[in-house]
Amino acid sequence: MGDRVAAVRFGHYAVPLARPVSDAKVATGRQRPLAQIDVLTCEITTNEGLEGLGFSYTTRAGCRAQFAHAKEVGETLLGRDPSDIARLYDELLWAGASVGRSGVATQALAAVDVALWDLKAKRAGLPLAKLLGSYRDSVRTYNTSGGFLHAPIEEVKERARQSLSEGIGGIKIKVGQPDTREDLRRLAAVREHLGDDVPLMVDANQQWDRATALRFGRAVEELGLVWIEEPLDAYDAEGHAQLAAALGTPIATGEMLSTVPDLVRLIDLRAVGFLQPDVPRVGGITPYLKVAALADHAHLQVAPHFVMEIHVHLAAAYPRESWVEHIEWLSPLFEERLEIEGGRMRVPDRPGLGLSLADTAAAWRLDQVEFAGVAAGRSDRGAVGGGPGGWSDGGGFGRVAGGWAGRVEFRADAG
Ligand SMILES: [Mg+2]
Repeated sequence: MGDRVAAVRFGHYAVPLARPVSDAKVATGRQRPLAQIDVLTCEITTNEGLEGLGFSYTTRAGCRAQFAHAKEVGETLLGRDPSDIARLYDELLWAGASVGRSGVATQALAAVDVALWDLKAKRAGLPLAKLLGSYRDSVRTYNTSGGFLHAPIEEVKERARQSLSEGIGGIKIKVGQPDTREDLRRLAAVREHLGDDVPLMVDANQQWDRATALRFGRAVEELGLVWIEEPLDAYDAEGHAQLAAALGTPIATGEMLSTVPDLVRLIDLRAVGFLQPDVPRVGGITPYLKVAALADHAHLQVAPHFVMEIHVHLAAAYPRESWVEHIEWLSPLFEERLEIEGGRMRVPDRPGLGLSLADTAAAWRLDQVEFAGVAAGRSDRGAVGGGPGGWSDGGGFGRVAGGWAGRVEFRADAG
């Protein structure tokens, strides 16, 4: 018998930002400024003493729902072989399929899935990138966090210079304000400040209509932008395809999509030059890898969104080198820091993701639940040879027949 899951712990953390940030969704009145990132963590411990750490996240709302969903389905993992990632993912997916195989439900599973991949790589003694099959030991990285709309243009310019001096390789600024002329002024100021050689991207966060996006795209063709990100509503695949066909500047989108089919639609319609999947949002590394394989097949660039701590590994394992987004918002959660040098982010050489929760993170923990032990009367027959998920082994395990032995559940005080 191989190793088995001995304990699973979920945590809900609220990580404050140093200062609230605003993108075009705030400028158009759709959202309030972003003041914190909520993170769902999953820590898995095995009988052999290995530990996997995964996480998912939300902005503004939804993490309590993710935590509740994980708490409902997560104890299924107890006593299971953590290397059977695809099988466990499938089981957890179907366990909560009543609320849909997308959004909150799968984003809760993402934390589990990432923890299982982290664990598998640690078992192999390899960084996740090398377990997956790596093409490079570092990836190009660009900064986003200095280019938000709440910042006056002088501050954006200063932050961009600072990022470049710290070894970042490109700069992205936010656009998509109700007055496009203001976007153009800020963009021209940044381009002039940085010169023509610095890779530059813009991100409209879905706030233009098709006509405005086309006009903006035509107005900036000569600026040599790496891409125009989220010019349109995230679900307007046809609109993105029309823009991509009309403009010389590549289109980038995909960060808001939470299923493989939604992202595949962008690929099928040739709607992007840069596809931007996000591991937590799309439900984990397992579905992300399906998207990446199809994007590769279509000869696309993949520039994953946010959570550089996970995406540095996946970008290193993708055939065509693209960009990893440098946003340091989650760094305080972790003990380790990613190394940046010469425009590139180094893939950690530690096993797994190369991450551990910082001791100080406990101050931001709002909730926690832990499942430990194995199901009474449970045998491995179902897990090995029974029906899907091992629920048909007749062994009477789980809450259906035996109840859980050694189950521990507690709430932490709000931090
Ligand atoms: Mg974006």
